[in-house]
Amino acid sequence: MAVIGIDLGTTNSLASYWKNGEVHLIADENGNTLFPSAVSYVDNEGLLVGQGAKDRLVTHSQDTVCSFKRFMGTDKMYQLGHKNYTALELSAMVLERIKQNGEFFLKEEIEEAIITVPAYFNDKQRSDTKKAAKIAGLSVDRLINEPSAAALAYRMEYGEEDKTLLVFDFGGGTLDLSYVECFDNIIEIVAVAGDNYLGGDDIDSLIVQYFCQENGLNLEILAANDRSILQKRAEEAKCRLEVEKCTNISLEIEGKLYETLLNNDILFQVCIPLFTKIKELFIRILNDAKARVSDLDDLIMVGGSSRLSVVRRFLRELLGKEPVVLGDTDKVVALGAGCYTGIRRRNEDIKDMLLTDVCPFTLGVESWHRKTDMEGYMLPMIERNSTLPSSKIQRLVTLQDYQKGIVVRVYQGEEYYAKDNLYLGEISIPVEPKLAGEEWIDVYFTYDINGILYVEVVNSHNVRNHMWLSNQELSEMELEKYKKEMEQLLIPPIQQEENRKLLEELESYYESSSSVWRKRIGIMIDRFVQGLNCGRQHLIKRTVEDTKKYLETMKETMEHEEEWLFDGELKQDMEDVEELIMEEEIKIDRKEMPFNEFNLGDSWDTTNGQ
Ligand code: AMP
Repeated sequence: MAVIGIDLGTTNSLASYWKNGEVHLIADENGNTLFPSAVSYVDNEGLLVGQGAKDRLVTHSQDTVCSFKRFMGTDKMYQLGHKNYTALELSAMVLERIKQNGEFFLKEEIEEAIITVPAYFNDKQRSDTKKAAKIAGLSVDRLINEPSAAALAYRMEYGEEDKTLLVFDFGGGTLDLSYVECFDNIIEIVAVAGDNYLGGDDIDSLIVQYFCQENGLNLEILAANDRSILQKRAEEAKCRLEVEKCTNISLEIEGKLYETLLNNDILFQVCIPLFTKIKELFIRILNDAKARVSDLDDLIMVGGSSRLSVVRRFLRELLGKEPVVLGDTDKVVALGAGCYTGIRRRNEDIKDMLLTDVCPFTLGVESWHRKTDMEGYMLPMIERNSTLPSSKIQRLVTLQDYQKGIVVRVYQGEEYYAKDNLYLGEISIPVEPKLAGEEWIDVYFTYDINGILYVEVVNSHNVRNHMWLSNQELSEMELEKYKKEMEQLLIPPIQQEENRKLLEELESYYESSSSVWRKRIGIMIDRFVQGLNCGRQHLIKRTVEDTKKYLETMKETMEHEEEWLFDGELKQDMEDVEELIMEEEIKIDRKEMPFNEFNLGDSWDTTNGQ
C-alpha cells in the first residue's frame, strides 16, 4: 500500500511519492506530471476529468469548470449537464483520478495521501478537502500547508541551516505569500497574506486590455467567443516570453486582422497595476510578521506565474535580491508533499521535521473595558497568525456588584465589536457574588492543528466548565482522544514547569533586590511574560533562552560586583542581552491588556437558573 503526496492546485494538481531517499513525481500514461484540475460534461458520455476537460475549456466553456478550489468550503454550485456540483464534489473527482493514475503508475494500491492546502484555508475549507479525499477513497490523516511543503522542498535542496523564507506562490488565480521560519527541525509559518483574485489570469486580462487599446478595439462590445479566444492567445503569448524575446498576438474579427507585439519590457509596463497590489501584500505580510525585508534570507518562487521573467524582475527590484527558483515552480509544493510522506512513514533516509500550522483568523471572547464600553468588544485570545497548536489563558473579572456568574461568548474574526464577528458558542460559570472586580475567572483557549477549539473556564473556587468547538462532528471517543492530547501538549507556555520556575526565580530576585536591579528585573519579567504569550514558537523559544542568559549574567554580576561597580565586560554582556531582548520586544505584538481592565460580567444570563 502506497502513501502519496498531492498538491491539489487551483489550475493543476500533481502527485508525488518518496522512494530510496528521493522524492519523485507521478506521471500519466503520456509522461505528464501536471494534472489539470478541470471537469467537463460531454453530452451522452458523462464527465471528463483532467487534461481532456481542460482541452474543452475554449470550445465548450459552458460545460467545463476549473478553478473551483477557490470556492472550496462554500455552497457555490457548478452546473454540468443536468446536475449541480459543489467544489468539494469536483475536487473529489480530481482526487479520484489522481489516485487511479497513481495506482497505475506505481503498480500498487494507494490508500493514504498527504494533501497540501493554502495556509489561509479555514476549518471548513480544510474539512471539505478531507471529505473530498474520503469520497475519492483516500485516507488523509494530515493536510499540510502549501508554503510548508515548499519550505520542506527547499530544505531538502539547500540543507538545514536556520533560514527565514518568503514563499511567493503565484498561480493562475491566486497569490499567496507566506513568511516561514526554519530552525532546528521545525518549519514554522509566521504569517500569511494573499489575494484570492490575483493571478496569472489577471495578467492575461491586462494583456487583452493592452491589445484592445493598441488596436482601437472596445473590449466591452467584443463577441464572447472572440474575447475567450483573445484571452487564450494572451496567455499563450505570455508563456512564449519564457523562451522568446518578442512575440505577436493576433486576432481576426469579421475578416480583419488585428495584431500586437509583446516583449518583456512592454509586459512589465502592462503589469504595473498588478505589481502595485503585490507590493501592498508584501507590506502587509512584513508588518504581520513584524519583520523587515533584510530579515529575509531567501524568496522561494512557486506556482505557474512565477515563471514569468517580468515577475522575477519586479521582485528583484522590490526586495533587492535574487529569488530562488527550485527547478520547476509548478512542482515545488508537490515535491514537498512527497518528502513529507517519507517523514510520515518514518523513513530513515529523511530527517524528521515538524511542520507547524498557523491560525488564519483571530479567536476571542466578548468583553468590556470597565466603564467605557457600551458594547461588547472582541478580546483576542488566539491571534490571527498564531502558530498552532496554541494555548492561551486570560483572567477576567466581574463587572457588576454581586453578579452571580459569567457567560463567556466565543467569536471568530477580526472586527472590533464582538457582534460583528462569527459567533461560535458560549459557556457559563458561577462566581461568588461580591463587589465588581473582586471575583475572577480564568479562560483557557486551546486550538489545535485539526481546527478543534477547546475552551475551559475556571472560577476562583476551582469550579470548572468546558466546551468543544469544531467544524467536524466528533464522537465521544474522538473527544476523549483529543482531550488527552491537548492536556499533554498544550499547557500554555506561561504555565509550563520550566517557565514557571524561571518566572518564580525572577520574581524572587525582584523581591530581594534594590532599586536599579528591581527596575531591570521588573522590565525583564514583563518581557518574559510578553514573549511567552506571543503565540510564536520560535520567539517563545528565544525568549526563554534569552531570559536564562540574562538571569545567569545578572547572577554573576550580582555575585562579583556591587551595583556601583557594575562596569566593563559584564556590563557589555548585559547590554548585549538587553539589546537582544529589546529586539524581541519590537517583534512581539502584545495586544492583550492587563488582566484587570476587562470584564465579561453583565452578560450573565439569569434565565439559566444560576
Ligand atoms: P498554477 O495555478 O500554479 O498552475 O499556475 C497557472 C498559471 O501559470 C496560469 O496563469 C498560466 O498562464 C501560468 N503559466 C504557466 N506556464 C507559464 C509560463 N511558462 N510563463 C508564464 N506563465 C505561465
